[in-house]
Amino acid sequence: MGREKFIRCCVCDAIHHVSTFDKAPTYVFVRDEVEALATDDWRLFMAQHAGHRLEPLKASGEKLLSDGSPPDPMSVVYFEVTNGQDRYVVRRARKSIQEPMCYELIRGRLADAGVTVEVQEQEIKKEIKNHFSWAPATCPDDEKIDLFVGLFKEVAKTLDPQCIQISEYSYTDDSISYGTFDRTVLDALTERCAEYFLPGELASLRRFMDTHCDGCDVMTLVLRRRLTIERFV
Ligand SMILES: [Zn+2]
Repeated sequence: MGREKFIRCCVCDAIHHVSTFDKAPTYVFVRDEVEALATDDWRLFMAQHAGHRLEPLKASGEKLLSDGSPPDPMSVVYFEVTNGQDRYVVRRARKSIQEPMCYELIRGRLADAGVTVEVQEQEIKKEIKNHFSWAPATCPDDEKIDLFVGLFKEVAKTLDPQCIQISEYSYTDDSISYGTFDRTVLDALTERCAEYFLPGELASLRRFMDTHCDGCDVMTLVLRRRLTIERFV
């Protein structure tokens, strides 16, 4: 996202995404045959906006994924672009998987909307089963695993995001980082679990907690930075 470049028409507020496809044809399959489609969008854009004032825009690095996850080719992404002075938001989407990306300019900026804290629910459930696979008889049943995750969520909800230390950044999504916390948080969780688990189960669960709370391991929290679109009127 950081390298993306655009040309904006200051008269029409239209943008063109500068890409390597500007001068190269796109190849499509038509009934077992490959056809080259001339997609010189750049030439078309320049013709449509002949005589208008144009300015280059560059992605500033801030992005907001609104729909779907990064590997999803249909996901809609909003990101910020700038001419060095003014900032704009670009909406990138595609109507269907066969069609190229469509870019639309929005007058506005991406504003910080805080951080949400999430427990890695599915990952914990999977890892508990994996962790106890050497001694399946000691593995808590599904109901107890759900209960444990529920209690962890309750404890996590009481945490002040300021007290969570970032332990790792996501490689695939730059709005996500992972956070660890003080061992007292695990003490609090163990205490909550003590009401429902037998002493032997509790001891194994505590070992599980202690050995899975570094880096981006399953007992770390997912910190999701949220951005909203602030439209200029
Ligand atoms: Zn124009």
